[in-house]
Amino acid sequence: MQRIDAHLHYAGDHTDDRALLEQLGLKLFNISVATPDEAKWRARTDRWKTLAAQDPAHYAWCAGFDLPRCDDPNYFDTVLTGLAQDFDSGAVGCKIWKNIGMEVKKPDGSFMMVDDPYFDPVYDFLEKRDISLLLHIGEPLACWQPLEDPQNPHYNYYSQNPQWHMHGRQDFPSHAQIIAARDRLVAKRPGLRIIGAHLASLEYDVAEIAKRLDQFPNFAVDTSARQLDLACQDSAIVRQFIETYRDRILYGSDMVYNEFSSTLTASERQERLTAVEARWQMEFAYYESKDMVDVRGRAVQGLGLANDVLEDLYLRNAQRWYPGL
Ligand SMILES: [Zn+2]
Repeated sequence: MQRIDAHLHYAGDHTDDRALLEQLGLKLFNISVATPDEAKWRARTDRWKTLAAQDPAHYAWCAGFDLPRCDDPNYFDTVLTGLAQDFDSGAVGCKIWKNIGMEVKKPDGSFMMVDDPYFDPVYDFLEKRDISLLLHIGEPLACWQPLEDPQNPHYNYYSQNPQWHMHGRQDFPSHAQIIAARDRLVAKRPGLRIIGAHLASLEYDVAEIAKRLDQFPNFAVDTSARQLDLACQDSAIVRQFIETYRDRILYGSDMVYNEFSSTLTASERQERLTAVEARWQMEFAYYESKDMVDVRGRAVQGLGLANDVLEDLYLRNAQRWYPGL
């Protein structure tokens, strides 16, 4: 079966990577993440661009743009020129990261939200170029909840990354405020294809995702980094959700391997390949198997999706929602 991993960060430039992708029938969609250090995020993005240029059968990429500079009158000239170059050189999407809504502030001290009219020149440009917008807006709901349940899929992340843990932080927008801003943007831009990364930060309940998919025909979601959230919900309900919205859900893993594999030693490279293959096989088993499967150390019921539904999830939706991919 041919598959696209529609959300990850994997610098696999070695023939061993190519052999694994061939074996698994995989094409990879590498996503740019614009962090405050521009030189650093551009260097990573250059890797995604290089891979897609060298091996377009196995790699494609999603562009990003530098964070808002409200005091820079040339900001949008610079951003739009950069994006035009990226799309001309093959990028088939544009990503906005969670720092919008949770970190970047406006001159008046308030948080810059994703539906702020400030971004209109970018959204107008994406619509004009018929490029899809990938939004990682917000965080899992657990980010705003007390860190007390080690069984929560996000317990480890917030234990290890307390700077992103928002419980009790009255000085930051709430999950509901961030989601509402994202929903307003999706509603006011019906001509723009928008993909909500990480199950649109509504990972805790597929019914919440379904509400948005019913409301917004221009909206889809990817599963990246949220398989365990699905696996923690009732398997019959999740199966029905994926079947009902079979043209709106894109498979993604969100694995992160930013270093080129050609720079690793042979044994490091082998270790990496073993890990990524195991991760993909584990994720595929959950969607495909009718038996109990292991998802990150938990025994859960496989979804046993029909081949036709799997093809939408793994392949056709990525092609529909990112034309050119
Ligand atoms: Zn990611």
